[in-house]
Amino acid sequence: MRGYVFYVFFSGKAADQFKNKIRMGSIVGFTKPTILRPGDVDSAVGLHVAHLYQVWLIGTSKDLGQCEAYVNNTTQCPATLDQRSGTLCDKHLVTICGKSKNTRMEFASGDSGLEIGWATTKLARNGQTKYQRMDVASQASKNMNKTFTYVIPGKGPINTLGKLIRKEVVQDPKKVAKEKKAWTQFLEGRSDPGAMMIRKLKGIEEKEAVNVLSKEAFLKIHNKTPMEKEEAQAKKRSIDMLLAQQQRKKAKKLNDEDPKFVYL
Ligand SMILES: [Zn+2]
Repeated sequence: MRGYVFYVFFSGKAADQFKNKIRMGSIVGFTKPTILRPGDVDSAVGLHVAHLYQVWLIGTSKDLGQCEAYVNNTTQCPATLDQRSGTLCDKHLVTICGKSKNTRMEFASGDSGLEIGWATTKLARNGQTKYQRMDVASQASKNMNKTFTYVIPGKGPINTLGKLIRKEVVQDPKKVAKEKKAWTQFLEGRSDPGAMMIRKLKGIEEKEAVNVLSKEAFLKIHNKTPMEKEEAQAKKRSIDMLLAQQQRKKAKKLNDEDPKFVYL
């Protein structure tokens, strides 16, 4: 696992309790952390803890340190290392060795490779020990410099710089109302499907009853055009009038037929 980088996000009680206690070199154990869904396929592993029982502060490492080289005048190299094996990270060790190689004549000639890094040993069949370069450390330092995004349940996507990527868009109700009014005015008197769709999206109520079919389709099927608002009102008025007349007639008729006398 040496050289392996993974990210742990703290939230809730775990963050409150440990934010000032965990620092560089802290040895921490995690119980049942949530494994986060990464944004990219090649992301490092991301974990999330929120409860106190998930975090165990075990102690402080004696040997873990930060690379002593500076990447510029004010920033120290962020690489962490085992101080028992030196004070420079692999990258800076290679740089320093390269510089000193150039100043020493015995190394200056030829193309003898000078490779510096972690190595594994392997015993060959003939009894010789073979050294093989391990690429893990370089992979880790590559991951250190990248920014990954993970999705924390209930919080949304967050990157390894601790920044929430997409915040909930808070809509200003005044702005929404203004926009709605502008759209209502713009779409006044229009009944094409586009206008209807926008009205639906913006939550504007249709003033007139909606015909599911377009005027042309309605004409084709029913052999007549759908009625306009005024026509429909006029028709309703006429029917009401007729009905009222009928009622009156009925009442009158009943009156007429009322028996004036009874047979005994
Ligand atoms: Zn370094």
